[in-house]
Amino acid sequence: MTDTVDLTLEEADALARDVLEAWGLAPDHAAAVAATMVAGERDGCTSHGLYRLLVAAASVEKGVVTPDAEPEVSEPAPALVRVDGKGGFAQLPFARGLPLLVEKARAKGVAAMALNNVVHFAALWPEVEALAREGLVALAFTPNHAWVAPAGGTKPVFGTNPIAFAWPRPGREPFVFDFATTVIARGDIELHRRAGKPVPADWGYDAEGRETTDAKAVLDGAMRTFGGHKGSALAAMVELIAGPLIGDMTSAQSLASDAGRGGSPLGGELLIAIDPAGFLGDRVEEYLAHGETMFAAIEGQGARLPGARRIAARRETMKHGLRIPAAFHAELLDLLQKGKTHATTGPARAASGGNDTGDGAAAD
Ligand code: NDP
Repeated sequence: MTDTVDLTLEEADALARDVLEAWGLAPDHAAAVAATMVAGERDGCTSHGLYRLLVAAASVEKGVVTPDAEPEVSEPAPALVRVDGKGGFAQLPFARGLPLLVEKARAKGVAAMALNNVVHFAALWPEVEALAREGLVALAFTPNHAWVAPAGGTKPVFGTNPIAFAWPRPGREPFVFDFATTVIARGDIELHRRAGKPVPADWGYDAEGRETTDAKAVLDGAMRTFGGHKGSALAAMVELIAGPLIGDMTSAQSLASDAGRGGSPLGGELLIAIDPAGFLGDRVEEYLAHGETMFAAIEGQGARLPGARRIAARRETMKHGLRIPAAFHAELLDLLQKGKTHATTGPARAASGGNDTGDGAAAD
């Protein structure tokens, strides 16, 4: 018996959709959420891959997400798109608003889209990459749950607040980076806790605001932003522009609304799309080539571009498919079965570790 299972990307997608639909997601939600998970698995981002099926099922089970929410698209201003996700996962609202955001960015040179009232558990890169594929420069931001202390303080104010950026590259994959504004992902601290390993003293504070190397104490206390006051300012910016600016919650409000259920964060996301032709007109090609000169200067000295690891992983899995641990595959089949039970006889325990707020390795 082998300890791995091979899946084609199509099989992984079908399995993910089956699990999500078994847990009550409407088919269009299941398709959008499955696509982002399979993309994560395909690109070697396994913590945002099929593992997130456990997290999604747990969010359904805990009642923090509306599995069949019907997103509502509106246009609050000529260059703005708003999608009210009505408490559902963020992927379908993004997909529903995307065509209008692209259209507006092309018409106005720059446009922004707010996703409101969405449950967010995912990486941001698939979204900015989708915009870059349309030839647009893109930025995305979302708050989280308040787990992170501001520089100079020790009490949680910010979420892990990721920032993603994408830049279109002629004839190649876009340049994309996407990272949390913390020193380290929350999931990494969780893995240390599980393994009983100490964490570096600069990862966070305990609940009394003291430096600690105890992973659980950091999870119960506060994480730190990266880059001291610089990361702290960026985290504050994400709170503001993807919270109050778009009429949505801060990370502190998201955590309060979770009311201890341990679900994925609920709140908003801001996307900004800029059409290079807005500034450059018919000189787009010429100036995008200047960007290429910069990329060559980076790679020419042996440094790697953000996104390069993902794209390399993508090339492999597009050719050879996915290989996942057999035990994990069995766990997903079990989750599928539990979803069916949940649908017919009421609550079934979704997933050990399928918790996004600190008890599970899925936490961001
Ligand atoms: P990482 O620290 O792993 O860094 C991610 C980015 O940095 C990637 O673009 C990565 O490229 C790039 N990178 C990593 N190492 C290098 C290197 N040596 N040289 C150049 N570039 C490098 O990310 P995080 O742990 O902070 O975040 C992981 C994910 O978690 C993100 O996708 C984020 O969106 C998500 N997240 C989501 C949250 C939510 O609420 N929805 C909350 C917090 C995080 P590559 O991919 O090629 O390695």
